[in-house]
Parts: sequence; structure tokens; C-alpha cells
Amino acid sequence: MRPNDAIPIHFRLTPPQLKALRRLGIVTIEDLLRHFPARYDSAGATATARSIIVGTKVTLFGMISGLKAKKLWKSRRNATEGFFEDSSGRVKLMWFNQPYMASYVPERSVVKVTGTVGGNAERPYIANPEVEIVPKDIADSANAGIFAPASPYKLEASSLFSVYPETVGITSLWFRHAIERVLNAGIAAMILDPIPSEILDRYHLPDIATALQYIHTPEKDAHATAARKRFAFEEIFAIQTARAQERTENDAQSAFPIRETQGHVERFLKTVPFPPTGAQARAIEDVLNDFGKPHPMARLLEGDVGSGKTLVAAAAAYAVVTSKPPQRENGTLQVAYMAPTEILAGQHFQSFIEYFKDLPINIALITGSGCKKFPSKVSKGEATDISRAQLLKWVANGEIAMVIGTHALIQKSVIFQHLALAIVDEQHRFGTRQRRALAQKNIHRERDGAENFALRNSPPAGGSDSPRSKFSAPSRFPVSETSNNSAPHFLSMTATPIPRTLALTLYGDLDISVLDELPPGRAKITTKIVGTKDRMTAYAAVRQELEKGRQAYVICPRIEEPDPAKVNAMQAKSAKAEAKRLQKDIFPDYEVGLLHGAMTPCEKDAVMKDFSDNKIQILVATSVVEVGINVPNATAIIIEGAERFGLAQLHQLRGRIMRSSHPPLCFLLPENSGIVSSKRLKTLEKTDDGFTLAEADLDVRGAGDLFGRRQWGMSDLGMEALKNIKLIRAARDEAIRIITEDPTLSHNAALCERVAKARVELHGE
Ligand code: ADP
Ligand code: MG
Repeated sequence: MRPNDAIPIHFRLTPPQLKALRRLGIVTIEDLLRHFPARYDSAGATATARSIIVGTKVTLFGMISGLKAKKLWKSRRNATEGFFEDSSGRVKLMWFNQPYMASYVPERSVVKVTGTVGGNAERPYIANPEVEIVPKDIADSANAGIFAPASPYKLEASSLFSVYPETVGITSLWFRHAIERVLNAGIAAMILDPIPSEILDRYHLPDIATALQYIHTPEKDAHATAARKRFAFEEIFAIQTARAQERTENDAQSAFPIRETQGHVERFLKTVPFPPTGAQARAIEDVLNDFGKPHPMARLLEGDVGSGKTLVAAAAAYAVVTSKPPQRENGTLQVAYMAPTEILAGQHFQSFIEYFKDLPINIALITGSGCKKFPSKVSKGEATDISRAQLLKWVANGEIAMVIGTHALIQKSVIFQHLALAIVDEQHRFGTRQRRALAQKNIHRERDGAENFALRNSPPAGGSDSPRSKFSAPSRFPVSETSNNSAPHFLSMTATPIPRTLALTLYGDLDISVLDELPPGRAKITTKIVGTKDRMTAYAAVRQELEKGRQAYVICPRIEEPDPAKVNAMQAKSAKAEAKRLQKDIFPDYEVGLLHGAMTPCEKDAVMKDFSDNKIQILVATSVVEVGINVPNATAIIIEGAERFGLAQLHQLRGRIMRSSHPPLCFLLPENSGIVSSKRLKTLEKTDDGFTLAEADLDVRGAGDLFGRRQWGMSDLGMEALKNIKLIRAARDEAIRIITEDPTLSHNAALCERVAKARVELHGE
């Protein structure tokens, strides 16, 4: 047996087992060893058939026989009886009200039995035991052990018993036995440790062979703890090393020089109707400092909803579009600004027109449903529809300096002449790949994929001297000659409050600026959890706002009413029905509008426009308004089914009304006030700082609940480690140190492989 062997070489697998392993991504023997227990039961086999004591809970390994269903004589209850047998003797098993047990376990199966000993010392039995059948191949190979005194199952009562995450087709017990066999074959010692030994020493972490033994077959808690810490460190360290490497690669690229100076941007800021907040000024300064460096900026701007990230983006964009391309007399450098929804892209387009209407530049909008350009040739002060082909042409020849758009921006047909700044708004809504695709628009380089690797080494595509020939070039990132060795500056923005440790890990390749200050004059938000019985008080409060001329949102978790045919359909309020009801019964004297994700972009735009023009006073919406809509006159929000939303999402939803100087009101209407969810919701009543909320959520619910593996591409173990800032920092420091010494990890082959694996996992995000 070797670590890289495929599992079926050494284990006889049933088709469901094979399928389950595939689903878990477990292919090799090493993968199997890296499938960790979810928890530990405090006991393996705690006793033998002879040594059981009445009143205690026991776990036994052995053979089951003589199962039969019967009716109890006195109570007339259904029951199943049978016998358990091991090398020490025999004991009776009894199930009450479970007649099916008899047909569930085949005669003479090798089993693990867990239950409480009933009866008396003379005639004990095990009551309602849980039975796990030991798979046959393992039973065969372990048979000797089960029935001989030298059992492989540790008999000390203190021993820990690994429990693996159960999946359809494969049991925890199968993993336990299979892994034990692999460990007994000495495979752990053959696996190269991705963590260099001096790092292990520095943090007192067990080496990989020891840790594998400890995590699967701990003899005491301390073993499991040490091993879990080691593997958590390994995962964070691998991610951080990947990030450090990306950072080094970023810094090895050259960027377009942005010549325009601080004073220049200051003049721009004077044209904005309000002075920047201190935090905005600091972030703008960070960006301008980055522009002064020879390599591209790689910066994350974190700021709560309403903290004014757009202005920072605008200042950065201003510096770029007023800069000339190198060795050119005219033309400007270009900016790409990507937003997650058409609504948001449209709003940014509008605000950028407002910011830059006096500059001699063209601004364009590209989304799935069409393209626009400002200014229009015919009426100067307005935007006009243009064809996609026209947009592509003008972006490629540099006539359009600034393109705002959705995912449509990263299509390979969008080619820039001099893309110098890529901005991604609400970046958590995009995958890593999409973010990078924008940041790498200019470059003949992609880290993963052989096809792209070949591209990196090939001469610039296109042989003719017409720059137009690049359109047909097969490259994924085709560019014109002048820009193909400059990478754009990259500004990523997020309002998603995530704990600091997660940011340090996931965004370890980015410098971070934080907008920790809201624009002045914002009134403090009042958040109230309202029981279903008191919903009228919420409506009354909203009515008061409406009477003052303000507007309100009502957020519902669903679009449609649940299908009545489905008995267990969610009872969640639907936006459609709620809009009707509110219009008819509650607010007949106001206009109620409806916005949801299944509407066409045109319909959404029309509704949004009516809402911002105050033709609609109450907007009933699904969580599509989560991101970025800006209607400062809206001062109240009612969130139905509040417990269905994550804290971060709730915070973003109420962010919709934190935009004006009028005191905003947020009502959370949970469907049922369970203890846990209301405790969680209470945090929202107490604090209005998104990052505090994220930290609180990490504490209250645990990392595993809050951000699943699926969302971030990290394992539960890695997520657990986020509670440990010391570990995160240590992993980061070590990662940076190692990449500084060995940028390509050519002297750290095992780590190199581990980092590649981390990259694949994270890219799945
Ligand atoms: P977010 O960080 O959520 O993207 P926005 O950039 O949309 O926030 O800004 C929210 C609102 O605050 C906008 O209406 C914007 O015009 C306004 N705003 C931004 N900066 C300031 C400031 N320094 N002073 C006053 N209002 C500001
Ligand atoms: Mg925004």
C-alpha cells in the first residue's frame, strides 16, 4: 500500500461506497487519511458481554444472532429480542416498539452495539441499543481481533472513538476501520509533511505522521486537540502561502504610471457636494500611494453599507481617466468597474456621470440587457443606447475611458486598449475567478490551466500590423501591443462584514483599507424585533414615516406563495402576496410597488425609478435590494421572516435605510421566535457595526454554521481556526517568510503540492 494508491486497489467497495467516496473527493489512500473525524465519542468498546454493569451505557463489538419480533406478554407492546455475543460471552438485546429491528440486521452480522444495560445482575439485557453493522470485508479482517482478547478496539473506558461525517452510502464505521488498516500499514510515515520542520518546532505542532495517528485514533483528548490544531494550521498556512505567492506575483508586474497627483484629486473632491469623511480621505490616500508604486495596486476596501465606498472608487477612477497612456499625446487610461447586479451597475453609471460630466471622457454601461454611453452625440447632457458592437469597438480603441458593467464586462470579447484600473464592487458576490479575470484583463497569464500556461509563453497573438487583428486572436486576454506588459491596478470593495481573521486569510494577498466612519449627520438606526402579534405597531410606525413624506421597504423571503399542494411548503411570506395585501388592507392610501429577482431588468428599472421618484412609497421586495440600492428618502424597513436571513444579510438589508439624515427604523418580524434565533437577532438591536456583528456571529453560532465550507472553500477545521487570531497571524507570518525565501516553493515540494490543492479548493468558492 502507498499513499497515492487508489482506494479500490486495497479495499473491496460496494457501488454506493464508491459513489460516496467520489462525492467526498476521496480518491487515494492519502485522501482517506485526510478525511478527518467530525467528533469523538468518549468510548469505543467500553465493555465485553461479561463485564457489563446494570444502569451503565455500554458499547460492545461482536456478533448478533437470533433476532425475532414478538409481543410482550404483559404490556402487549411490540418488541424485538436477540442476542449479542463476543469472546467473553453472551447478552440479551431488547428493543421496545421496534418490531422492524428483526428484519433490519442480518443473522450473525458483526456489529457495534451501544445502549444502556437494563434488567438485573443475574439477567441483564441491553435496552434499545443502536446497532451499526461492520462491513463484511472489514469484519473478516478484524474477526480475529473481535473475538480474541487482544481486540483492536481499545477497551479502556477512557479511549476516544472517532466519528466520521456520515454520508449516504458509507458509514462512519467503514471509515474508522479502513483508516485504522491504513494506519497499521504504516502509510502515515510515507507522507511528506507540507509544513517545514522548523515551523512545526516553533509552534509545537506534531508532524504529519504523528498528527494523522492522533486525529484518527487519539488515546486522549490532548492528542486530538494537538492534531486538529496542526491540520487547522496547515490549511490556513497553505491558503496564506498561496496568497503570499499571488502577492509576490502581483508585485512583480508593472502597472501603468498614474501621473496625476494628490492635488489633482483634491481638486476633484472639491467638485463633490460634500467633503470626504476622514476614513474616505485615508482610503483615497492609500490608493494614491499605491498608484505611486511601480507594481499594480491590490487593495480591498472594506466599509459598511453607506460608508461611501463609491466616492473612493470615483476618486481613484478620476486619477486614472485624467492620465495619459505612456508615450501618447492623447487618449486616456481606462477604468473598468464591475458590479454584481444590473440595478447596481446602472446606479454607478448614473453617479459616475454625475461625478465626471464635465470631463471630456466617454462613460459606458454594459450589462446583459444592453449598452449605454454618456454623453450622447445628439443631446450632450444625456446617456444614449448604443449597440454592443459599438461599445466593444470604442473600448478597444480607447474612445471610451470608463466602462461600468455586470459580469458582461469579463467576457473575452471585451478588450481594452489601456485598462489601468479594475474595480470590483460587492466583490463577495463574485467568485475568485471572476475577480481575477477582471484584474488580469490585460495580461497574457493565467495561473491555472495548461492551455493558458502555453499562452503565457507564446509571443503576443496576431501577426498582422493592424491592431484590429487582435479581435480574432485565440488568447483569453487579448490586448493591444502597448498594454500587454502592464497589469491594471485592482480595487476590490466589500460591505460584507466578515471577521478579521477570515479577511486576513481569504484576502491575504490584498492590502486592506477600512471605512470605519459613516458620513456625518446620519441619524442612529433603531432596530426592533417585533412579534407576529405586534405587527400592527410596526405598520403604525411606518405610516408615521409615510406621513412625513418618507418611504419604506418591506422585505419578504420569497417571491411566490408556496405551492399549496406541498404540505410542508415554507410558510414564508411571499413578496407578491404581501404587496397585494399591504396595498389592499394596510396602506390603501399609498402606492405599493413590487421588486423581485424574477422580474426582467427593464421591469426592475421601472420600479426602481418610480421608487426613487417617490411615485411608489412602499417597496415590497425580495432580498434583491440587498446590494447597493440608494434611495435616501427611504427611512423604514420591515423584514419578514427575519430569522431566515443571515446576520450579515440583515445588516445589509437595513443598510438600505441608513443613507439619510432622518432617523431610520428597522423592524425584524421573525416567523417564530425560537430562543436561538431571537438571541441572534438581538445582536442586531444592540449594534449597528457590521464588523462587530460578524465577530459576534462567529462567537454565537460558530464558524461552521455561519459560513459553510461551500461558501469559502475551507474545511470545518479551517473555519474553526478563525476563532484563533494568534494561529492566523502565525500562519500568515510564516507564509510570507517562506515565499520571500523561496518564491516558487522549489525547495518545498510537499508544501507546493499542498498549496496547489488549497487553490483548487478555494477557487470552487
Ligand atoms: P457604500 O459604501 O454602501 O457603497 P455609497 O458610496 O453608496 O455607500 O454612499 C452612500 C451615500 O452616502 C450616498 O448617497 C453618497 O452620496 C453619500 N456619501 C458618501 N460619502 C459622503 C460624505 N463624505 N458625506 C456625505 N455623504 C456622503
Ligand atoms: Mg456601494
